[in-house]
Amino acid sequence: QADVRADIALIGLAVMGQNLIMNMNDHGFVVCAYNRTVSKVHDFLQNEAKGSKVIGAESLEDMVSKLKKPRRIILLVKAGQAVDDFIDKLVPLLEAGDIIIDGGNSEYRDTTRRCKSLKEKGLLFVGSGVSGGEEGARYGPSLMPGGHKEAWPYIKDIFQSIAAKVGTGEPCCDWVGDEGAGHFVKMVHNGIEYGDMQLICEAYHLMKDVLGMDHDEMAQVRFWNKTELDSFLIEITANILKYKDSDGKHLLPKIRDSAGQKGTGKWTAISALEYGTPVTLIGEAVFARCLSSLKDERVEASRSLSGPQGVKFSGNKATFLEDIRKALYASKIISYAQGFMLLRQAAKEFGWTLNYGAIALMWRGGCIIRSVFLGKIKEAFDRNAELQNLLLDTFFSNAVQDCQESWRRTVSTGVQHGIPMPCFTTALSFYDGYRHDKLPANLLQAQRDYFGAHTYELLSNPGHFIHTNWTGHG
Ligand code: NAP
Repeated sequence: QADVRADIALIGLAVMGQNLIMNMNDHGFVVCAYNRTVSKVHDFLQNEAKGSKVIGAESLEDMVSKLKKPRRIILLVKAGQAVDDFIDKLVPLLEAGDIIIDGGNSEYRDTTRRCKSLKEKGLLFVGSGVSGGEEGARYGPSLMPGGHKEAWPYIKDIFQSIAAKVGTGEPCCDWVGDEGAGHFVKMVHNGIEYGDMQLICEAYHLMKDVLGMDHDEMAQVRFWNKTELDSFLIEITANILKYKDSDGKHLLPKIRDSAGQKGTGKWTAISALEYGTPVTLIGEAVFARCLSSLKDERVEASRSLSGPQGVKFSGNKATFLEDIRKALYASKIISYAQGFMLLRQAAKEFGWTLNYGAIALMWRGGCIIRSVFLGKIKEAFDRNAELQNLLLDTFFSNAVQDCQESWRRTVSTGVQHGIPMPCFTTALSFYDGYRHDKLPANLLQAQRDYFGAHTYELLSNPGHFIHTNWTGHG
């Protein structure tokens, strides 16, 4: 009989896997480590895990034999085929009720597919979003598990122990929902991260090119202090603005203005289009990265395309800075409102029951979008679990109301100066669209009916579709 003593196994000893193992070890769990390239197990035991309770396995059979039952196995390997390959190898070694957890950045539909196929085999499957990067994995990530809920009682203690904590020790981890819900929520989190980053970039652009501020001056503004915007991304931006290179000059202006992406922001935008939810801000944030990456083309275009001529800022600098701060805050509210709209739509689409307040709490700490603001979202859902839209919560509607004038001034000043602000502007357009009881889509309906006989409804008779012969005479 093998030495059965590990509480959980983790497969995948790249940086995330190693850090998550050490985090579990710190919280008193005995972890069995395994990796496709087995030499990495030995390296890990002799280095990072030296002196810990972590044990290693030479093969999957060896690993399975060292686990307490029901067996709990986390995969932290490259998303895609590697996950399916490991699942296929594990299935014959496991028994009914054993649990496989995928902690990688898997696509939510893959997770749903794996849930279905493993259920047929009597195994439990959990797809968990893990956020916070290497640092989070080591000292407290945000964890978003979904899949077979029967698995939750067996993994809850481990997950909530290792997750980031906020407030009075509340863990940034709770059960998300069925099938791929955990990975869907992680995907939306990543999309929101794209939006938050782009909004800060637009504020930076306005400070730099409308107000002509230098990096030292920008690093000093109230923005970065403990205001409503208090968040990890704001904090690191302040540090980045201050940072000087070895030559004593700021590093930021030397960095090439061309951003890359790994795809989760794009997935969010694609889902938004697929489910017909106007998540415009994340979409614009993805496109802003695409536009930035056309660096050579932009350099070429800058030689022949001109912007507004002779516009100079003549207002009060401190007032405009406060305007930008408020524009950023209001736009951020729109972005989160849109993100939660997408979650709500996905829940409807897939029949998931999502706990929106718990999701806000999961993002409140541990991850890249962590912020005080998410606590406010949690409170809004605590006040009303059925809240249709964040903008309809009094706290957020008042906040937007308070920012509104500043937001409009920021956008119009930026437009006059020719500054691209795709996220500030789309947020404002969304707000104006959402608060209008009448949009010009009556004309759109008429146009569709004119050229394609698509029919339309009259305001006075909803649900009844009629066609008009627009070119006929009566
Ligand atoms: P990674 O570079 O994505 O993956 C490396 C691990 O996957 C290694 O253990 C490697 O084994 C294994 N692997 C790769 N291809 C394989 C295959 N075809 N078959 C079997 N195993 C294979 O590592 P990571 O950056 O630590 O990320 C792990 C997962 O967490 C990924 O899904 C990633 O997207 C997600 N994630 C990463 C971060 C982050 O900040 N890095 C944050 C959140 C989530 P070998 O050693 O044998 O090559």
